[in-house]
Amino acid sequence: MSHPDYAELPSPGKLLKIVALVCLVLFAAVEFYFFKVHYNPAGYAAAALLIFFGLWRIDTEKDPFQKVRIITILSLFVLLWCIIPLAFGLKVPILGGQWGTFPAIHTVGSVTFFIYMGIVFLFGKRVDCGWCCPCVTARETIGYPFRNRTPKNAFWWKLRYLKLLSLALLLIYLVFMIIDAGTAYDRAGKIYYDFVTYGYYSSFLLIPLTGNRNFCRILCPYAALWGVLSVAGFYRIRAHQEGCIGCRKCEEVCDMGIPIATLVKKNGQIRTIECMGCGRCVTVCPQQVLSFYSAAGILKNLFVSLFKPHSRTTIPP
Ligand code: SF4
Ligand code: SF4
Ligand code: SF4
Repeated sequence: MSHPDYAELPSPGKLLKIVALVCLVLFAAVEFYFFKVHYNPAGYAAAALLIFFGLWRIDTEKDPFQKVRIITILSLFVLLWCIIPLAFGLKVPILGGQWGTFPAIHTVGSVTFFIYMGIVFLFGKRVDCGWCCPCVTARETIGYPFRNRTPKNAFWWKLRYLKLLSLALLLIYLVFMIIDAGTAYDRAGKIYYDFVTYGYYSSFLLIPLTGNRNFCRILCPYAALWGVLSVAGFYRIRAHQEGCIGCRKCEEVCDMGIPIATLVKKNGQIRTIECMGCGRCVTVCPQQVLSFYSAAGILKNLFVSLFKPHSRTTIPP
C-alpha cells in the first residue's frame, strides 16, 4: 500500500549525527586494521556498532516494509557474517584449491560467488545490495543519519560509470583465476583487493558529505557485476506509465539517485544496474504505479499451476 508520508527523509538531531560519525570512524578503523592490515577475529567487534544502530533503526522505522527489511538485514548480518564464520569456522572452496571464510560471496572465484551470480540473475541485485551485504547493514544503520546528504543530480548520475572500471579489474582477476588460480592473486588479485578495500573503508568517512550509499553508487565492483546480471536477468520494477503524475516522490527516497520518474515516462520500467531493490519508491508512490518483477513471481505461478491446478488465482510476478 502506498504511503506518501514515507517520502519525508529523516532529519536526525545533532547528537545522533555526532554519535553516528564517531561510530563510522570507529567501524572503518577497526575493520580496516583487523581485516586488512593485520587479520584477527577481533575485527568482528565492530559488529556491535551495527547491531546497536540496527536496533535503533528497527525501533524508529515508520514504514512497515522497511522495518521488515531492516530486521532481515540485521538478522542475516548476525547469522551469515558473524555467527556462522565465527562459531562454526565454515569454509568455502575457491578456484585453485584454496578456501575462504563463509559466506565468501564477494571472494572472486569462490563457489558461493558463482552461485550468487545465478541467484542475482533470477531475483536481482537486491539479494545482496538491498538485503544481505554487510555493507548495506552498515549503511542502513550507522550511515542512515546521513541519508539525506545523498546527492541527486546529473553529475552524480554520470559518476555511476566509474564502477565499470572496478568491474573491469574484477573481470581481469576472474580471468586470471580461471587460467591459473595459483598465480592470479599476484598478477591481479592484490591490486584488485587493495583498490576495493581502501575505497570501501574510506567511503565510510565520506558518508556525512555524500550520503550513505556513496561506494555502492560509484565504485563497488559487485554493484556493477550484480547490476549487469540483474538487468540481463528477470529483475525490474514495472510501472504503469499513464498513472504517473510526475510528483518525483519516488526519486526523493531513492538512495541510489536513480531518476525514476524519467525512466518511468521513457521506458515504463526501472531496469538499471543501479537499483538495489530497497522498495522505498514502490511504497511511497501515491499512484501505486510501481511494482517489483522477478523470477520469484514466475516460480510462484509455476508452483500454483503444478500443485493447485484448479485455482483461479494468478499471482502477479
Ligand atoms: S554495492 Fe557493493 S558494497 Fe554496496 S551493498 Fe552492494 S556489494 Fe555491498
Ligand atoms: S512513479 Fe510517478 S507518481 Fe509515482 S512517485 Fe514517482 S513520479 Fe510520483
Ligand atoms: S529505484 Fe526504488 S527500489 Fe530501486 S534503489 Fe531506488 S528506491 Fe530502491
